[in-house]
Amino acid sequence: MNINPYENALTQLDAAAKIIKLDEGLHEFLRTPKRVLTVSLPIKMDNGKIKVFTGYRVQHNDARGPYKGGIRYHPNVTLDEVKALATWMTWKCAITDIPLGGGKGGIVCDPKSMSISELERLTRRYAYAISDIIGAEVDVPAPDVYTSSREMAWIMDTYSTLKGKMVPGVITGKPLSIGGSKGRAEATGKGLAFCVREAAKKINLNIKGANVAIQGFGNAGTYSARFLHEMGANIIAVSDSTSGIYNSDGLDVEEVIAHKAKTGKVRGVAKSKEITNLQLLQIECDILVPAAYENQITKDNAKDIKAKIIAEAANGPTTPDADKLLYKNGKMVIPDILANAGGVTVSYFEWVQNLTRDYWSHEKVINMLEEKMVNAFNDVYNTANEYEKELRMGSMILAINRVVEAINDRGIWP
Ligand code: NAD
Repeated sequence: MNINPYENALTQLDAAAKIIKLDEGLHEFLRTPKRVLTVSLPIKMDNGKIKVFTGYRVQHNDARGPYKGGIRYHPNVTLDEVKALATWMTWKCAITDIPLGGGKGGIVCDPKSMSISELERLTRRYAYAISDIIGAEVDVPAPDVYTSSREMAWIMDTYSTLKGKMVPGVITGKPLSIGGSKGRAEATGKGLAFCVREAAKKINLNIKGANVAIQGFGNAGTYSARFLHEMGANIIAVSDSTSGIYNSDGLDVEEVIAHKAKTGKVRGVAKSKEITNLQLLQIECDILVPAAYENQITKDNAKDIKAKIIAEAANGPTTPDADKLLYKNGKMVIPDILANAGGVTVSYFEWVQNLTRDYWSHEKVINMLEEKMVNAFNDVYNTANEYEKELRMGSMILAINRVVEAINDRGIWP
C-alpha cells in the first residue's frame, strides 16, 4: 500500500483543527506551505557523464521564526514527503517552544551508490540552487536521513563563499571546528530518552530493567539505544535495513555499535538471533522505538504490537489508522514531533551559539536540552489531558495553538 505522508500530516492537522474549532482561513493557511522550491541539479559524475538530480526545499511556516528543517538524501524522496516533513517541523519547533518555523529539504538520489566527490558536487550544487531562499535569519537547514555534518560543512562553505563571508548560522549540524554545537550528534537520541523516562513515570513503568526494541540503527536509533541503556533499560532487539537482531537478555549496545561501524550491518553480533523487521515491531517488550522511516507501523501490524510505550524517533512511522488502533489498545505513543524534537532543539542551540559567537560546554547543552524536553513532554501531556485525547492530538493542539497565536499577533499583511 502506498501511503502518502503529506496526506497523513494533513489528516492530523484536520483532526486537531476540528477539536479546537480552528478558524477556516487559518486552517487553510496551515494546510499550505508558504513556499515550495524544486531545483534541477546537473552533476558531472566520476565517469564524466552528466546526471540530473531533483532537489526540493519546502518552507511551511515561519510565523514563530526562521524555517528550520533537515535535508534528506534518498531515492524515495518525493515532494509530498518533503512537504509532510516541513509541516511536522513547524509543529515540532512550536512544541519545544523554540523561536523557529518549519521547513525541509531533500534530493532524490542514492547516496550509497555515489562517491564522496560526487556527493560533494551534488551537495554544493544544491546549496547554490537554494541559496536565494535560505539564510541564517530566513531558513536554516540541518541533517536528516543519509546526510551528516560532512554535507552541512559543504553547504555552509558554499553559502559562505557565495556571500563572501563566513555564515555559520545558515545551517546546523556542522562539525565542531566550524561552529557545530557540542551535544548535537546525540541530541535526538538523548531527547528521546528524556521523553521515554517522563512517559514511563506516567504509567508507573520502571525504566530500569524495561525491555526496549529499536527499529533502525542510524543516528537516531543508535543514540536512543545508548541513552536508554544508560538509564538502565535492556535493549533486546535492534534492526537496520538488512535485518534485525534479538537477545532476550539484552544486547551489548556498545558491541552492536562497534559491529555496525565495522561491518555496516547489525546482523552477525555475537549471541544474537536474527529476526525480521516485522518480528521486531511485534516483539514482547515494554518500549518500542521506530527509528527508521515513515509508515512502518500500519493497521496490519499495529494490532500485534506488545510494547506499552511507542516512542517515535522516526518522523511519521505510524499511519493514522494504526495510530487509532494503538490508542484503542491502550498504548502510549510519544509522537514524533515530541519524541525526536531533541535534534532540532540542539540545532536551535547551535544556531544561537553561531549568532552570538559564544560557544557552550557539553554539560550546558545537555542540561538545557533536558529542561526543554521535560517541559515539552509535560506541556503535551497536560494539553492531551485537558482535551481528553492521546499525546499525538495533545501535541498537535499545543503546536497549532502556539503557531496560531503567533500568526494572530503578527496579523496578516497586507
Ligand atoms: P540514518 O540514516 O542515520 O539511519 C536510518 C537507519 O534506518 C539506518 O540504520 C538504516 O539501515 C535503517 N533502515 C532503513 N530502512 C529500514 C527498514 N526498512 N527497517 C529497519 N531499518 C531500516 O537516519 P537518522 O538520522 O537516524 O533518521 C532516522 C529517522 O529519524 C528519520 O525518520 C528521521 O527523519 C528521524 N529523525 C532524525 C533526527 C536526527 O537528528 N538524526 C532528528 C529527528 C528525526
